[in-house]
Amino acid sequence: MNGSSWQSHPLTMIPGVGPARRAALHHLGIHCVADLLHYYPLRYDEDTKEHDFTAEAGTVIAVATVSGEARVRFARGKSLLSLPVVIHQTPMHALFFNQTYLRSQFSVGMTLRLHGRYDPARKTITVTRHERPSKHNALRSITPVYAVSSSISVTTLRQIMSAALRCVWEQLRDVLPGEIITHFRLPSYAEALRMIHFPDTFSDVHQARRRLIFEEFFRYQLHLQLLRDEIASERTTSLDADRFYEGSESFVRALPFQLTDGQRCAIEELSQELIGTSPMRRLLQGDVGSGKTAVAFALAAGLARAGCQTALMAPTAILAEQHYRDAVRMLHPLGVTVALKTSETSESTVSGNPSKRGECTEDLIIGTHTLASPALSYRHLRLAVIDEQHRFGVGIRRALREKGNGTSVLHLSATPIPRSLALTLYGDLAVTTLRERPKDRLPIKTQHVTTSDQTSVFRLLRIELAKGHQAYVVAPRIRPDDVDEEIKSAEKLYEEMVAELGVARVALVHGQMNDKERQHAMREFVAGRTQVLVATSMIEVGVSVLNATVMIVYGAERFGLATLHQLRGRVGRSTYPSYCILVADPAGNTAKARIEALLSSQDGFELAERDLTLRGPGELLGARQSGLPSFAIGDPLTDLRIMEVARDTAESALGDRSFWLLPSYQLLRESVLRELESKME
Ligand code: ADP
Ligand code: MG
Repeated sequence: MNGSSWQSHPLTMIPGVGPARRAALHHLGIHCVADLLHYYPLRYDEDTKEHDFTAEAGTVIAVATVSGEARVRFARGKSLLSLPVVIHQTPMHALFFNQTYLRSQFSVGMTLRLHGRYDPARKTITVTRHERPSKHNALRSITPVYAVSSSISVTTLRQIMSAALRCVWEQLRDVLPGEIITHFRLPSYAEALRMIHFPDTFSDVHQARRRLIFEEFFRYQLHLQLLRDEIASERTTSLDADRFYEGSESFVRALPFQLTDGQRCAIEELSQELIGTSPMRRLLQGDVGSGKTAVAFALAAGLARAGCQTALMAPTAILAEQHYRDAVRMLHPLGVTVALKTSETSESTVSGNPSKRGECTEDLIIGTHTLASPALSYRHLRLAVIDEQHRFGVGIRRALREKGNGTSVLHLSATPIPRSLALTLYGDLAVTTLRERPKDRLPIKTQHVTTSDQTSVFRLLRIELAKGHQAYVVAPRIRPDDVDEEIKSAEKLYEEMVAELGVARVALVHGQMNDKERQHAMREFVAGRTQVLVATSMIEVGVSVLNATVMIVYGAERFGLATLHQLRGRVGRSTYPSYCILVADPAGNTAKARIEALLSSQDGFELAERDLTLRGPGELLGARQSGLPSFAIGDPLTDLRIMEVARDTAESALGDRSFWLLPSYQLLRESVLRELESKME
């Protein structure tokens, strides 16, 4: 793909998109035409319930004819638009909440496609989404569903999508070499985009996904293998092994606890590799709370004594600060100097001596992605540790590594994955695994209660808060929803907790708050100034508040097994007894089995295996595995077969040099190399 092509076209070139719609699209993270066309549906709704839908209550999609004037009512602080319609010869009312402005858009005789919840007693459909049949959705039987916000509807998004496709159709060129497309019988790029957004059948969706996922994985594998070849040829200077061991051993001796056997073996294995002359590339995986950071600190202590630097990159400022505090406590007394660099702190450090601008001289530098920014340089960066590594792209990890000469890389991951999958996903990364948790930890008492059983939740909360402990309360969504009122939202739970426990004790964090507000709320909780943190599942990664003993997950049936296990791992990090309450009314068998699995096991490896067998095809697009590299459309677990094919294809294209030599690879080659150069994502 070439740079000046349709990809970077501004959104306003699409007919029907002005400043307002452009702003709404920005809100969804869509900034150019390419972003838009790659904004894939979350799932597809099928029309199967249409024929017998008058029989029972439930979610329906139906074609309706408007049969009268819309009327507006107000009730319980909401406005309600009630529209008479006929569906399959049955008169009923379509209800729209808080959308009175729609009134003028309906006229008698008009055909609408309605999505919503049907109530047979009242003969109403509470509409979540409606659309007018158009050329691109001529009442077809499957409808893509997108993640949208309140400022743009799915209908509008689909209109824009259709206009955009028409607009750039002639310019959509295939990046994949023709021989690959022929060999795997893939549809063309343009066809794949049409079929993913406007499919006629599920077979269209399948074909389109196969094509788009293959390209995504193929690019990923090319990156991975190009970097691997680059690193394989690197050498590093040898290190004073005696001093290294002196440093790491003094760290281990000073620890207030006994290392687990796993930690001790890991330190030994990694040390040997670090003092060698080829840079280390390793993944250290271990369940939440298995103590991966201590392993990294032991290496940093050794390297510091040998005169080299270590960088530790964390996915959020909060996590970086947490590591920084731990490092200061454990490493300062040994004479190891430590610095913190996040986008907030770097401004203040720049104000010093201008010639020293951005030079890191400390032994251990802890921070966020800022650590890889061009503004920072290092004295002698020997080891880059990447915490929760799946949060960072290939480019940023490379940028950090290139801050040194022959820098070793240690990835930390809390998502245990089988060795074969690790090889496919991370290339030739060697894997070290921490299997046990520290001995002094009690099992986390895990319990399942139904939504109606609020009293036992509050009872436990009161008892634990009275002891001075802290609690997390997690909800599956940020704000309430008119249709699924029974699903708890973070905002609603926050109100309930405040009413029950008082405003001073409760804080709220979620992904739609700005960074400042979110960090403020997190810091208050980490510092113990608030006792209850109400949040969405965004808190799953890494935060460690030893004093927190309660994790309550509402709507637990809506989370994947891996996410629930990570959430549970936020408690039980000290010697206090801890509790995890899963509030759920699981309907399907899979949801029940997930809850059962959590009640019966606390072992992340075992749960990861069960997760694989429990994931049904229905979850293909929605429930992403946390802790694995994330892709726009593919899922490395469920689409593993495609990943393997992509890996083999990349291997042979690089092996026989067709990637470098063949004209059919030119577009792909240019694009892959350009992506690799634009390091900061
Ligand atoms: P994770 O592997 O989830 O990143 P951390 O490195 O954050 O785990 O460790 C969790 C907590 O356990 C930290 O407070 C750490 O100091 C402590 N810890 C690490 N190793 C041990 C051990 N062997 N015994 C007791 N506590 C430990
Ligand atoms: Mg960690």
